[in-house]
Amino acid sequence: MRTKLDHLVNAALVSGSAVPAFTCYDFTTALAVVGAAEEARLGVILLVAPKTACTPNGLRLIAALRGLADDASVPVSVQLDHASDLQVIVASVAAGADAVLADGSSLSYADNIALVRQVRAALDAQGASDVVIEAELGGLAGDEDKAFGTDDSTHDAGMPVAGLTNPAQVADFVERTGAQLLAVAVGNVHGKYKGEPNIRWDVLQEISARTEVPLVLHGASGIPAEELAKAPSLRVGKVNFNTELRTGILSTLQTETAAHRADGENLQGLLARWNHSAGAFAGTTLELLSA
Ligand SMILES: [Zn+2]
Repeated sequence: MRTKLDHLVNAALVSGSAVPAFTCYDFTTALAVVGAAEEARLGVILLVAPKTACTPNGLRLIAALRGLADDASVPVSVQLDHASDLQVIVASVAAGADAVLADGSSLSYADNIALVRQVRAALDAQGASDVVIEAELGGLAGDEDKAFGTDDSTHDAGMPVAGLTNPAQVADFVERTGAQLLAVAVGNVHGKYKGEPNIRWDVLQEISARTEVPLVLHGASGIPAEELAKAPSLRVGKVNFNTELRTGILSTLQTETAAHRADGENLQGLLARWNHSAGAFAGTTLELLSA
């Protein structure tokens, strides 16, 4: 069923839970994620990568995800992830996205604020004032769509981490941007962690003391389950997963393709294995983050 991302996340936090968000490059994965959420009777977030959304087929995928979300028996939000291009944002919302990460984290502090405000103004002008905006403060290392592992040695355990969210800026940033959710950089990275992840729970705690809006943890693939489970206690109401989901699907396809080819070019059977892999990961993650 249709939901507002901030309502979904705030409701989860009230009950001591966080909502997982999964990047969907295709409809098979999205069906698996929504199926797992329905089975768990929990809300979920479908993320669309900006590289997907900037193509005509990507906009068709968003429209398809909109239909899937509205038809689901649990609350499902469709969010455009990491977007900075106004045209892509406006087109994605027109196609059916109900939330956007307006990502100016690579810009200066002032330009980051200006970008988020521009996105709000563009959506208001589009008659899409109900679209929820997440903003990001602090820089995340790594690539969202490909996981090679980061060479940035600053992410090694015990070393200071570059680009951390500055807690002193949080209240001002949230107030001036009007952001409804805040993505933070606390040692989390996109893609694979080099060595053990060094999540700065102390910084996260400082951030959570400075704002009322729910916090978002990107790059959760590779963070140990017992660490992720404590995220909601620090106002982290949304946790983004991408790499681990891809790893599971690709590994399943690698293992299963030969047998399904031998079984009469059985694409339907192979898609069922794909669905099973993505659904199992989504189900485990939903369970992990729910109180
Ligand atoms: Zn991200």
